[in-house]
Order: sequence, then structure tokens, then C-alpha cells
Amino acid sequence: MTKMRLANVTAAQWSAGAPIGEDEPANVFGANVFGQNEQRARLPKQVFRALQRTIERSESLDPALADVVAAAMKDWALERGATHYTHWFQPLTGFTAEKHDSFYAPIGDGTAIAAFSGGELVQGEPDASSFPTGGVRATFEARGYTAWDPTSPAFLLENPNGTFLCIPTAFTSWTGEALDHKIPLLRSIEALSKSAVHALHLLGDTHVERVTTTMGPEQEYFLIDKTYYYQRPDLITTGRTLFGAKPPKGHELDDHYFGSIPERILACMMDTERELLKLGVPIKTRHNEVAPAQYEIAPIFENTNVGVDHQQLLMTVLKNVAHRYDLVALLHEKPFAGVNGSGKHNNWSMSTDGGENLLDPGDTPEENLQFLFFAAAVVKAVDTHQGLLRASVASAGQDHRLGANEAPPAIISIFLGAELENVFTALAEGRVYVSPAGEFMGLGSPALPTLPKDTGDRNRTSPFAFTGNKFEFRALGSNMSPALPNTVLNTIVAEAIDSLVEDVEAAVDAGKTVPEAISAVVGANYREHGRIVFAGDGYSEEWHAEADTRGLLNLRTTPEALPELISEQTLSTFSNYGVLSERELHSRFDVFLEQYIVNINIEAETAADIASTMLLPAALRYLRLVQETGVSVLEGEIRDLVNKFVDAINTLRGVNAVHPDGTDVEAIYMRDRVLTTMAEVREYADALERIVADDLWPLPKYAEILFIK
Ligand code: ADP
Ligand code: MG
Repeated sequence: MTKMRLANVTAAQWSAGAPIGEDEPANVFGANVFGQNEQRARLPKQVFRALQRTIERSESLDPALADVVAAAMKDWALERGATHYTHWFQPLTGFTAEKHDSFYAPIGDGTAIAAFSGGELVQGEPDASSFPTGGVRATFEARGYTAWDPTSPAFLLENPNGTFLCIPTAFTSWTGEALDHKIPLLRSIEALSKSAVHALHLLGDTHVERVTTTMGPEQEYFLIDKTYYYQRPDLITTGRTLFGAKPPKGHELDDHYFGSIPERILACMMDTERELLKLGVPIKTRHNEVAPAQYEIAPIFENTNVGVDHQQLLMTVLKNVAHRYDLVALLHEKPFAGVNGSGKHNNWSMSTDGGENLLDPGDTPEENLQFLFFAAAVVKAVDTHQGLLRASVASAGQDHRLGANEAPPAIISIFLGAELENVFTALAEGRVYVSPAGEFMGLGSPALPTLPKDTGDRNRTSPFAFTGNKFEFRALGSNMSPALPNTVLNTIVAEAIDSLVEDVEAAVDAGKTVPEAISAVVGANYREHGRIVFAGDGYSEEWHAEADTRGLLNLRTTPEALPELISEQTLSTFSNYGVLSERELHSRFDVFLEQYIVNINIEAETAADIASTMLLPAALRYLRLVQETGVSVLEGEIRDLVNKFVDAINTLRGVNAVHPDGTDVEAIYMRDRVLTTMAEVREYADALERIVADDLWPLPKYAEILFIK
């Protein structure tokens, strides 16, 4: 048996260990979270109440109370076996960062006591010089601070060798600029709340004091056996395969989607879910995805700040637990060329402090009016800021996916469903909406129908779809933090709400009743922004042409999309709402562009190394074998391919050796020269993979990686 076949046999081995959580209660939800129950049990009443006010209404917490909270948190953590604590934050890398400090401090007599003050809870000062800042903070002024976010609960991370307390924090430069994803997100949540509350008061709901945004992400990922992973330097270094011929079988048979889950995979999923439940992440669904070896995990929605923190935890736990099962979780957006990539659907809505979902059509006229108003605001926001939304999901990994007929196109459009589209169209045309089925009551007011809960069929190709009582932004990449897209959504919807409120107020001043004014404003809004609404096939060529005539943006790649982060319009909106300053936006633009360049550079170097040190030698061995056997018909083809392969490798090394100056130009160079040359190298490598003797080929093949579980 060849070496490769033996690896397959190894990869296929798995036997179940002891059932997980044998010695734990069945319901472990929140067991590792310093949540409301622990807070109530451990804090003096007035401190508990003050903390809850902070959590629910974002009221600032009296610093004097921090000592009390810190002491309770420390006691809880020590009882649970924690030895260290860390301020857990989200720098612009898109991942989380942590620096651990021991609870125990020596006290001079040779012993140590556990100490953790309010000061240590509230503020940390990590040496921040190595985090990306895009020039906001020069390294000689390396000061960065982490600041406790009391609205996201602290939690314990367990490791086989110990436990530590994680305190969600924001990360700022000493000059007060946001160096992370949390600060702008929190600012945008405040902005949206203010605008939405103002609108609700105008619409007659005067009791509402706060509106929060809600977020429910659906995460796609691959699980592969670690045997293959460690045989592939491209997966290890770049997260995706840079070589690999298309397997004879892909997802064409549609036999994977929602199929029964293999036993080892299911065991891994269950363990992952249990770990996440302990951390208070409300995991709800799991299933197979479209591609072989691809899966999905989705929690129930939460307020966006906690939801984003939980999404980061989910990605971390997913990767950690997979190792226990000799699996590796791949979160890259496109781990396998020619096989569906992975995304993250971001379900988004707004909810009042009374628990009312503002995007729920409901079944009374008042709710409809309110619903139509807020849905109209989303339509206006998405149309006005389509480029910015596109930029918020841009990355090197995403460029393999968006627009590749498996994920939403790079053109941002909205799918409303037939019913809602008809309602808006009727309002825009000043007609009374008549339901085709006649099963909806007229409401005595022009064009205010009772909307059915499910407003129509689904559309898988739309990047931004209304799905019954929420919008689903589907263009996020599997590997990314959902923080920025949600920050953008909150901010641009806040702006749209304010603008529509102004219009309604003006119409009321001109003599209209509030319902009349809303109908008129929603109709006018749809006349202006209805171009963003599209119900057809987002993958089709016709749509690309039509979107162009509608004046919609089609920003295909990251270098085209990112400048939207620093457009005049973005700078003005974000500074008006105090979400990101000009400097903060520029720093994000710089950081993301740099990440794009660095990622492709790493890929190019890895590709050249694998090609010349692994694949080329295999091809040469095979060529010699052919020559030795004297079967001359084979020799020509392989010799020709090898020559072209060598040329392409040399070209790649040359092209990637020197880049032009200036990141803007460099990014385009990476896209147009480096990526294309990599693709050429790959083309020859993949052709060689199909003819070189299998036992000589050094990389596991797609068919093995994807189908042996
Ligand atoms: P589907 O996508 O098949 O319609 P669901 O209706 O269960 O499935 O919702 C999918 C995701 O949408 C889940 O993550 C869920 O938590 C989230 N979701 C549901 N309601 C809301 C809401 N009001 N705000 C944000 N996310 C929501
Ligand atoms: Mg969905």
C-alpha cells in the first residue's frame, strides 16, 4: 500500500471516547459566565441594580462600585479554579487578543494573596505597539488602554491545564481613538437607539426609552481530518489550499446539504455546542452545508454587542474543540477552489426595551405603519451606502467568493419578497394596495394593508434579504468579525431614520396626519431608493447589466471596495453620528488594505515554495520514470507541462519579489499581477496532479480531504 493510502486509513480511524459532560448537569447554559444570576447572588442589592442599569440602558457605572464588582467576580472565578484573568479585546486583526495576569501577587513574606481591584477590572494597559493601527499610534507612543465593557458578561475559559477569567474590554489609544471593533460598535448602537427612540415617539409610542439592535449569525465552516491538514503547508500557512485539482465528485449530487451528519463530526459538534452553551452562547442549530465536509452552526440572536463577542468565542471554540477529535476547523472563505466557500449570514433587526421587534410586520395597522417606516429606513440606508456595506465585508478571502455564483454578488441589492415589494410599490405610486389573494383586510387608510407574517418566497442569491421579521445581510465572510458590518448597518440606518423623521415632521407641519405623512414619506422614499430592490437571480449576467443601468455599484474586489470606507459620504455620516472619526476611518482603510496585500504576499510565497520544493520534484521524478520506461508518448506531455510550470514559478517569484510603492497601487498590483500569476502556477500544478503517479504526489488530494471523515 502506498504512503498516501495509509494516511487515508489513519484519517478514517475514530472511536468515541467517554461521553462529554458525563459528570456535569444536563443544562450547562451560562455555567461559565458571570451573568445576572451570579451577579444577583454575589453583589449588594444597590450595586447589582446599578450594574443592571448600566447593562440595560448603557448608564455609566459609578467607578466606586467597580471595586465591589471586581471582588465578587474574583471570588467567583477563584471558586471555579481560575488562576489568571485577562482583558479580552478585539483589535483590528479581526481576531481576539488576550494577555494573562495572575490573580496572585507575592506579599513579601514568601506567600502570595489573590488580589483583583476595581482599577484592574476597569482598565488595563497592554503593550499595544504590535497591534494594527493604520498610523493612529506610532510605535514610540505605544500606549494603549483596555476598558471594561460591563454590558458584555465576563466568562471563564477552560483549558485542560487550567482556567482563566476573560473580561470583555474595549481597546483604545491613549489619545482616545478606537483601536478595536468594539468601541465603534457600541457607539453605533447608541446612535441607532437615539434615532429610533425619537422616531417611535413621533409615531406615537412614547414609552420607549431604548432600542437595541439584534444580531443572529449563521456560521459556515469546514471540518477536515488533521492528517491532511498537516500534510498541506498551504492550509497551515494561508488557511486555504493553493493547489488541488477538482475532484471527480463535488457537491453536484447535492447529497451533502442537510444530509445525515457523520458520527465523528456530530460528536465534535455536540462537544463544541456544549462548550459554547457553558459560555452563554445560545447555540440553536447545526446542519451539513452544500459542499462536502462543510457545516453550519447558528446561535439564537442576541443584542449586537454580546452577539459579536459570542461570535468571536464561537470561532475560537470551534477551532479548539475540533482538535480533540483530530479534526481541523477551516474558517477561510474559500479553502477549496471549485468547491463552495463559507460565509456568515448576519440576521439583523431592531428591538425596543419592551421587547418589540421593529421589523416585525405584526397584524395591526399601527404596527404596520411603524414597520413600514423602519423597513423604509433600511431600504434608504442600504441604497445610500451600498458601497460602504460592500467595503465592510471586503477581504482577500472574500474576493474568491463574492460574485462567484455561490455567494451573493458583489452588487448590493435588497430582496423584499413579493408582498412587501407590492406594498412599497403601491405607496410609491399612490395606489391603494390590494392583496392578490384578497385575504388581507383593508384597513380604512390608503395603502395600509395587514401584512402576512411571511412575506414571500426566499431568494438565495440576494446579499440583503428581508426574511419575515429581520433583514439578513448575507455577504459576510466566514472568517470575519461581524463587528464592522453591524457598525455600518446601525449607523446608516440611524441616519436614514433621522432623515425620514424630518420628512414626516415636515409633512405633518404642512397639515397631514401622522399616518398620512408616513404613507407619503414611505412612498416617496421608495420612488427614490426602490432601485436597490431586486427579486431576480443575483448570479445572472442580466442582473449585472441591469444593476449597471440602475446605477448600482459593482465593486468586485477588495481594492475597489475599500476606498468606500473613506469616501466623503462615509466620513460625513460617521462623524455626524460620532461612530468613527476621519482618523479612525483612515486607520481602518490603511489596516485592511495592508492586510489584503500581506495576505496575498504570504500566499504567493507559499505557493512558490510548495511548487518548487514539493510539486516540481514530484513531476521530475515522474518524468524520469517515464523516460526510464521509454514510453515516449507520455514523455512529451509531461515535459511540456514541467517546462511551463518552471517558467510560471520563476515568473511568480519575480513578480512577487518587488512591489510598486504606495499601498493603493500595491494592492492593485497584488490583484492584477501576483494573484493572476499564482493562478497560472496552479493551473500547471493541477494539470500535473492529474497525470503524475499518485504515490509520488506529495499533497493529499481534494477527494481525500473532502470525503474521508
Ligand atoms: P432562517 O434563516 O432559516 O429563516 P431562522 O428564522 O431561525 O432561520 O433565523 C435564522 C437566524 O436569524 C438565527 O440565527 C436567528 O437567531 C436569527 N434571528 C431571528 N430573529 C432575529 C431578530 N429579530 N434579529 C436578529 N436575528 C434574528
Ligand atoms: Mg438564514
